Amino acid sequence: MRALCWNGVNDLRVETVPDPGILAPHDAIVRVQMSSVCGSDLHLIDGFVPTMKKGDILGHEFVGEVVDVGPDVSKLKKGDRVVVCSIVGCGHCFYCEHELWSLCDNSNPSHAVLDKAFGDTTAAIFGYSHAFGGIAGSHAEYVRVPFADHGAFKVPEAIPDDRAVFAADALPTGYMAADMCGIRPGDVIAIWGAGGVGQMAILSAYLLGAERVIAIDRLPERLRVARERGRAEVLNYEEVDVREALRDMTGGRGPDACIDAVGMEAHGRGVEYAYDRAKQAMRLETDRPFVLREAIMACRKGGTVSIVGVYGGLIDKFPIGAAMNKGLVFRMGQQHGQRYIPRLLEHLERGEIDPSFLVTHPMSLEEGPRGYQLFKKKQDGCMRVVFTPAASA
Ligand code: NAD
Ligand code: ZN
Repeated sequence: MRALCWNGVNDLRVETVPDPGILAPHDAIVRVQMSSVCGSDLHLIDGFVPTMKKGDILGHEFVGEVVDVGPDVSKLKKGDRVVVCSIVGCGHCFYCEHELWSLCDNSNPSHAVLDKAFGDTTAAIFGYSHAFGGIAGSHAEYVRVPFADHGAFKVPEAIPDDRAVFAADALPTGYMAADMCGIRPGDVIAIWGAGGVGQMAILSAYLLGAERVIAIDRLPERLRVARERGRAEVLNYEEVDVREALRDMTGGRGPDACIDAVGMEAHGRGVEYAYDRAKQAMRLETDRPFVLREAIMACRKGGTVSIVGVYGGLIDKFPIGAAMNKGLVFRMGQQHGQRYIPRLLEHLERGEIDPSFLVTHPMSLEEGPRGYQLFKKKQDGCMRVVFTPAASA
């Protein structure tokens, strides 16, 4: 089959690779109809997540058709159209039973790296390095889905692929980001990052009862989408002082909750940003926490900082004094998609959320390297490139 493979930093190639087969009784094989790029892939392409190997297949946000199932799969059959959570959960361990799916104890067999880096190992993620399980990704004609009964969800007919695909990752991540804010009536939620995840957090924050949502980015077209599709108020961080602007917009108090939907590759301004870039380049700081610091400083006293932007290692100049003395609540994590996907499919079916506007660039799988360049450089108004591997087969 054809697949989009990582071959080194900033080196992607479409290659012919062996078809996947059933390896364990709980596996399913899915023929991929649509597979989206995600901001998390950029951390791999830019070389900030170690343990990638030449030939690794990228992609973790996909919808497709079940073509084969192992003997222990009971909820799915050939021909089912499914959306598959980007994170793999076994369904039976302590964490999965507590609906903390991205912390699954069993889906990621490679403990050596994360035990050392994090003190414990977290769940496997499709196409997301060997530290995170070494499971082949979805930018391919077929993908093997471990623990398929728990991770693959049948898609109701009324939901087209270009909506269903985002129920794999961007939508549950944005929804979890808003859910972690514990939104109460009257709340103002500020969201850094107006990419696919930030846009889904905007829709979700309103769905969960926010009074006002303020989106922050620098890309005018993304801010326009946040305003027009998400009804968000918007701030361009290249034009205004974000902290000052947020204070002004909230009667001097600050937002009730701040969502970081940017993560380790944040851009920024001034000396602080230059410091982060230099230290990251020298590998003295793995991540650039510009947004995280700003969110902590901007958040109202007693408010919540909700982090879904991905961080991988260690950061400098973390304002722990501000966080502690302002009594902030921190919630964070890789998404627990299996907890949210069933209810999100209901919202999608009823038309209460429509994420299809994220698809700015539908492409064949063969155009993968070019698609990632556009997405990485945010050119041509690119929000999400979505590949259609089955169509090009
Ligand atoms: P994306 O690259 O499309 O968007 C990131 C956005 O952040 C860009 O629009 C960029 O302009 C903006 N940005 C950069 N610096 C900023 C700053 N200082 N202030 C405000 N905005 C800034 O990525 P995405 O797909 O939307 O993903 C966003 C983050 O979420 C990534 O870190 C990704 O790894 C992470 N993610 C996490 C999960 C999870 O399970 N927790 C799932 C999916 C994605
Ligand atoms: Zn588990």
